[in-house]
Amino acid sequence: MPHAHAHAAILSIGDELVLGQTLNSNSRWLATRLADLGILTREHVTVPDDASAHAAAVRRLAATNDLIISTGGLGPTDDDLTRLVMSDVLGSPLIEDAQSLQQIEAWFTSRGRAMPEINRVQAKRPTIATAIANPHGTAPGLHARVSTGSHACDVYCLPGPPSEMMPMFEQVVSNLRPPGKRRVITRVLPCFGMGESEIAMRLGGLMARDASPLVGTTASGGVVSCRIRYEG
Ligand code: ATP
Ligand code: MG
Repeated sequence: MPHAHAHAAILSIGDELVLGQTLNSNSRWLATRLADLGILTREHVTVPDDASAHAAAVRRLAATNDLIISTGGLGPTDDDLTRLVMSDVLGSPLIEDAQSLQQIEAWFTSRGRAMPEINRVQAKRPTIATAIANPHGTAPGLHARVSTGSHACDVYCLPGPPSEMMPMFEQVVSNLRPPGKRRVITRVLPCFGMGESEIAMRLGGLMARDASPLVGTTASGGVVSCRIRYEG
């Protein structure tokens, strides 16, 4: 029985995210869903469409986490590098997945179009990886296990568009292994009429970093939000 997915990292890929042109809503959504499942996200990493930065991030995160969910870089164009990077990290050459190719062709056919030749590359996967069907777009996802010494990390690569990423994540959920019986419960309590420091003084030891549940505050526009997180 493989070990539990106790610690996760979220890896977002795209120049537009690094440059600030697109808000990274995927990482927020994924961290929330993982917490619902009892899986703790330890780190969010965003890299540009650059193969060496992307590969270095996968290697580093895979060495200490049990699970990586990556989004982006699965499109058909030259700046979509996720397949190549995973092939490099896994040391496993790319092959064409016949079923993925069929699904991509069917996606175009159902819209009355022929598949442009450029989309054929999306059917490729590292030989030891498995493809994840994408019912809402052309880019299949990937699943592979990256080993670092005796440590194994499951990596799920999902497409960038949120409308494709979210339903594909739900497909993946049944393969995730939250640590037995652990729950992560979060609540936000909005407070008004008191400053953040006064609230912090009243909360006292509840805000200690080793407290459980752990309370943190954030202030915005006159409202101080007390964020309560329980893990156990
Ligand atoms: P495809 O090219 O098939 O659409 P892809 O996996 O290559 O899929 P990207 O090209 O990286 O995806 O991104 C496609 C779209 O999704 C872009 O509009 C991008 O801004 C948006 N997107 C990508 N990553 C994120 C993210 N982390 N949060 C929100 N939107 C994102
Ligand atoms: Mg991209």
